[in-house]
Amino acid sequence: MPPHTSHREANTMENTQAPVSQIAPRIALVTGGSRGIGRNTVLCLAKRGVRSIFTYRANRAAADNTAALAAQAGAPAIALPLDTGDASTFDRFADSVRAVLAQTGADRFDYLVNNAGIASTATLENGTAAELDRQFAVHFKGVFLLTQTLLPLINDGGRIVNVSSGLARVAMNGRAIYGPMKAAVEALTRYMALELGARRIAVNVVAPGAIATDFSGGVVRDNPEVNKLVASHTALGRAGLPEDVGPVIAGLLSDEFGWVNAQRIEVAGGMQI
Ligand code: NDP
Repeated sequence: MPPHTSHREANTMENTQAPVSQIAPRIALVTGGSRGIGRNTVLCLAKRGVRSIFTYRANRAAADNTAALAAQAGAPAIALPLDTGDASTFDRFADSVRAVLAQTGADRFDYLVNNAGIASTATLENGTAAELDRQFAVHFKGVFLLTQTLLPLINDGGRIVNVSSGLARVAMNGRAIYGPMKAAVEALTRYMALELGARRIAVNVVAPGAIATDFSGGVVRDNPEVNKLVASHTALGRAGLPEDVGPVIAGLLSDEFGWVNAQRIEVAGGMQI
């Protein structure tokens, strides 16, 4: 392969002669893949034959479950621990990613999904400096520095999807830190797209509406009143599910969506429109 030629280019060049079975499978790295939206993304990618390296913070059992489900769905997935709020660990994490890639005979991966996130119910009145730092560390600093650290490991022509929230667009009581942090990652998405265009890496941001996961204590899934309220504010008449979001992220990473770049796609069934 000539220098600076990605696997994607090599695949394209070889496509005219090589049978499909010889095309190297694509590889994704998904943060927060042990549960919720991240897990569904790993499974949707596996159905498309995309292998994943995915991260979890503490829940090893859930991560093992995701890995088993991905294998059943059609492609292996390997779990690595990572706290995306602790940038001091990112170089070591990149070494672990290199080691996992080496096991599969690859030296780079194709798709990065910055999905890991944590809830916050802080208001303008009660939000503390510590909560601001915690949210900033995970939702902006972590996304920025993890992407920066992993960039040398992403194939030219690869793809990045960041995960925001409908709450970056609409204001809701108790989300005065969380919503603006997600708005920041939406702006960052455009800057990433601008800089990474030279490497033909498209970067988009998916903004889910309220999704029934463990997020925020599972409130959308487990509190019938909240679930009903969300449904009443949603044109399609129900709260979202992880299965509503994972296919969109996987789709954005597909070749068909290769010309979509620097876009925010809200996946919310028409929430508060
Ligand atoms: P879940 O709480 O269901 O899952 C969170 C995932 O992120 C888990 O895999 C968890 O790992 C991981 N994680 C949490 N904190 C960290 C951290 N500091 N470092 C690394 N990994 C971490 O959340 P969702 O799937 O619902 O949310 C996924 C993304 O979607 C988040 O960015 C969230 O802000 C966003 N979102 C969610 C909405 C919702 O209503 N659910 C709405 C809009 C956006 P572990 O299992 O080990 O704890």
